[in-house]
Amino acid sequence: MTKRYHVTTFGCQMNEHDSERMKGMLESLGYGETAERADADLILFNTCSIREKADERFVAHLHDAKIIKRGKPGTVIGVGGCWAQSMKDLVFEQFPFVDVAFGPGQVPKLAEFLTTDSITAQGYFEFEGFPAHLPTKRDRPHQAWLQISVGCNMKCSYCIVPSTRGRESSRPFEELVAEAERLAADGVVEITLLGQNVNAYGRDLRPQPRKFAELLHAVDAIPGIRRVRYTSPHPQDIKQDVVEAHRDLDSICEHIHLPLQAGSSKILKAMRRTYNRERFLDRVEMIRAGVPDVALSTDIIVGFPGETEEDFQETLEVCEAVQFDSAFTFVFSARRGTEAATFTEGLVSREEKVDRMRRLVEVVQRNAHERAQRFVGRTMEVLIEGPSRTDPSRLRGRTTHNKAVNFQGFGEPGTFTQVEITSATSQTLMGEQSLVDLALLR
Ligand code: SF4
Repeated sequence: MTKRYHVTTFGCQMNEHDSERMKGMLESLGYGETAERADADLILFNTCSIREKADERFVAHLHDAKIIKRGKPGTVIGVGGCWAQSMKDLVFEQFPFVDVAFGPGQVPKLAEFLTTDSITAQGYFEFEGFPAHLPTKRDRPHQAWLQISVGCNMKCSYCIVPSTRGRESSRPFEELVAEAERLAADGVVEITLLGQNVNAYGRDLRPQPRKFAELLHAVDAIPGIRRVRYTSPHPQDIKQDVVEAHRDLDSICEHIHLPLQAGSSKILKAMRRTYNRERFLDRVEMIRAGVPDVALSTDIIVGFPGETEEDFQETLEVCEAVQFDSAFTFVFSARRGTEAATFTEGLVSREEKVDRMRRLVEVVQRNAHERAQRFVGRTMEVLIEGPSRTDPSRLRGRTTHNKAVNFQGFGEPGTFTQVEITSATSQTLMGEQSLVDLALLR
């Protein structure tokens, strides 16, 4: 009987990619995927620990698995990802029904555990670089993640990642190009390069350090790769050569995610972000000078310890000055084991955090709406992803600016089409397929 597995993924794209590799590895061991957790012989969670909410949400799911196991004692429960790494053996103390736990860098150890009839719970939490050889089961056949490095050498005071994913380690240049070529041969047209700080890529490679822009050029040159995206860059390290790659290379998408986090230089210093407000605005100016139509998205935290109303006003001012195309906004929550968790001065009340979040969202939504109007009346190339989530009679896709487009028309996922944009909200563009493509694809 084929054993069945069920994976629940929390958190970032890195985790989504790790889950694709977990599934590929399990299927190479003869397991099959089931959509129902209750039907699984192996219940897996790939966890995040970036915010308190993430922990709480996950633990609720874990208790659901406990109930399933009570009814089916042979069920194996495994917990991977950043929460598992941050807890280590505490996982088994607090949740004794868990059989195996492993950090983000230890996915292959799950196979080891499953193929040795271990009767005791096992934890694997070493940092051993990137296990490159794992098969991958991609959720979207025409789009793929390509992890270019693991870990992070930055010391942002609120962030748990360096302690859960370890020091920065770049994958060998040739290994990445070979993997991108395999993906192209496998029908992938869009690759997203993944790293905690992608523009630090290659600094640690020996004997010859490499630059992130070199990697962009190498992936752009691979036949069949039509779009290249990347996440996440650090504003401190974004350089002119990367901007020129966006300007000169056809496949490098016109979208840059540039996490601001806060607009006050005082708060940026307390966050240990290594740049101040002026440096961030200078990077934005450099990017827009090189790629005027680029879409800029960002991350912003409100309510960081010590943030006064004046500091928060500076965040709003930077948003008004930059006019981001989109923004991910978060309320500060102290993470166990981070420096910011020890900060006791100037703590911001829950009510104040909620009020600042409301005001911030109002500003970023209005900016995003205004920015999106520049696409109305233009014909944009769209990579079709599938039926619209809101209206199955329409198709959904994405522009090079990473804008979602819902449109009337025809075409298969993974193919490109021309869409005339007729209207825009802060999140989504609406449009009509070009007559040429309509005639061709109908
Ligand atoms: S750059 Fe800062 S926020 Fe990003 S992963 Fe590294 S430490 Fe965390």
